[in-house]
Amino acid sequence: MCGIVGYIGSQEAFPILIKGLHRLEYRGYDSAGVALLNDKGELNVFKTKGKVANLEKFCESKDISGTIGIAHTRWATHGEPSDVNAHPHYSQSKNIALIHNGIIENYLTLKEFLKNEGFSFKTETDTEVLVQLIEYMKGKYSCELYDAVQHALSQVEGAYAIGVIERGRPDVLIAARKGSPLVIGIGENEFFLGSDASPIIEYTKKVVYVEDEEVAKLTRDKDLEIRNLSDVVVKHDVQELKFSLSEIEKGGYPHFMLKEIFEQPKALKMCMNGRVNEQLKEIKLSGIIDNMERFRSAKRILISACGTSWHAGLIGKYLFEYYCKIPVEIEVASEFRYRNPVIFSDDILIAISQSGETADTLAAIELAKASGAFTYGICNVVGSSIARATHSGTYTHAGPEIGVASTKAFTTQVAVLIMMSATIGRQLGTVDNQQYLQLVEGLETIDEKIEEILQQASKIEGISKIFTYARNFIYLGRGYNYPVALEGALKLKEISYIHAEGYPAAEMKHGPIALIDEEMPIVVIAPKFGIYDKILSNVQEVKSRKGRIIAIVTKGDTQIKELADYVIEIPESIDSLSPLLTVVPLQLLSYYVAIAKGRDVDQPRNLAKSVTVE
Ligand code: GLU
Repeated sequence: MCGIVGYIGSQEAFPILIKGLHRLEYRGYDSAGVALLNDKGELNVFKTKGKVANLEKFCESKDISGTIGIAHTRWATHGEPSDVNAHPHYSQSKNIALIHNGIIENYLTLKEFLKNEGFSFKTETDTEVLVQLIEYMKGKYSCELYDAVQHALSQVEGAYAIGVIERGRPDVLIAARKGSPLVIGIGENEFFLGSDASPIIEYTKKVVYVEDEEVAKLTRDKDLEIRNLSDVVVKHDVQELKFSLSEIEKGGYPHFMLKEIFEQPKALKMCMNGRVNEQLKEIKLSGIIDNMERFRSAKRILISACGTSWHAGLIGKYLFEYYCKIPVEIEVASEFRYRNPVIFSDDILIAISQSGETADTLAAIELAKASGAFTYGICNVVGSSIARATHSGTYTHAGPEIGVASTKAFTTQVAVLIMMSATIGRQLGTVDNQQYLQLVEGLETIDEKIEEILQQASKIEGISKIFTYARNFIYLGRGYNYPVALEGALKLKEISYIHAEGYPAAEMKHGPIALIDEEMPIVVIAPKFGIYDKILSNVQEVKSRKGRIIAIVTKGDTQIKELADYVIEIPESIDSLSPLLTVVPLQLLSYYVAIAKGRDVDQPRNLAKSVTVE
């Protein structure tokens, strides 16, 4: 959600800022802007509604010189997307410019106060209040920008990551955060600022993750200085980025999403590396082994997540209850956090989030911690807020995921949940030898099986073309594949804007069956095991009402083939591992439908990659 970039050093800032904004485009945004200080110390702000490319065009005839600047892609929360509401925002005197990610929750109170102090406002944003408040504090305390930022932030409720610069002060850039992500890159006599490391990695691998309520001072030719809001110096760890530039580029694919779908065999290998031991036939997750006593004494597991991660969590519920015999409750984080949930100190809360920055999931963690529960994170982004806020956890190691519609993050989350349930179940004695071996061997070969499905991409593309007319889709699945039905429907909605619903197949009779006619596409996920016969009956029910059936079946299936209009085969596997396979054709189907409809697959409208506001 929204992107922040900043630069101070000896290079021209504008090209670095623009490139950085492009690298952050995947996060989703509606307008973009930049502020620069030229060598005369003049402060120039340029901003436009729409894409970063618009901003570049707009800036063609402007003074874009300067070796210090801040830039922003906005995802509007307060005030419509427009040129005037775009960031950076000037203070009243136009001496200060600020970019902001997040929401200032008490902005109306602050605005009233500032109006009474003689400030007037040009925009509808909460952000403009903050830049004015900084100017007010500067006047009140006759202090430097850095102190004024500290004073202002002490008055602010809500979430922020900010970058601030000041007319006549080309030597210093101030940055701060609370609740929204912010990374500082440390180069040779230069600093970079980013909402994540993607605008920074090209220049330096050395980064510092700013913590909540910390204010950083990036001074030209000086060391980085970070203090908290009470002006106490805080020590900062410089960390080494582990991914490379090529990992955040498209590598020959037309879209990040397609690249990431095809990367899944490799991503799963990386996720299992050092965890699934083919020689010893063993699965080991250190985050579990090190905290086994907590898992042993847990009466209950709570899972909290949003969107696709919530679907992975739902599969986790089936896994933990089956393999570990521990009761599991799962809930979307935004509901969980506000309904006064009963949490016991011997509960374990598992939080799942690709970015590790999802605001509601972070809040759920804090709630669980306050009740004394043990918290466990499953994130993809190393060093992210959730990774740092939880007691322990497992990284998915899928590599950077840029496409807004999550694909490889989902399959690696599911793989982590499988490894967790195998490790815990083994320790608890609830998984027998045969089940354990099935899981180890199943995981070892899962990459080859996904490769086999990916080879059917052009067949799936063909099927997708037939269904671009559709205005609705229904996805049906049972057991482990019910969450996959939800995920398939979400993927289609996200990128093609076709309305789609996932349902437990038998539940169809309690409502959605009324929608079925000869126009309605029904995607049925029906691999051959467990309650196959039951789902076969559900397919019959659809067929009798002339629905158009696209079935995901196990290779060699003959029964569903006879009923379905289109069939996509997946290799055999065991029930609990099947979501890793069945979801892949659904990802491809939504990708190709969206392409056929001419959608912007990597940056679908209204969506953000990392949802850092609640
Ligand atoms: N709340 C601010 C606004 O609406 C910042 C939004 C963002 O994070 O991009 O302008």
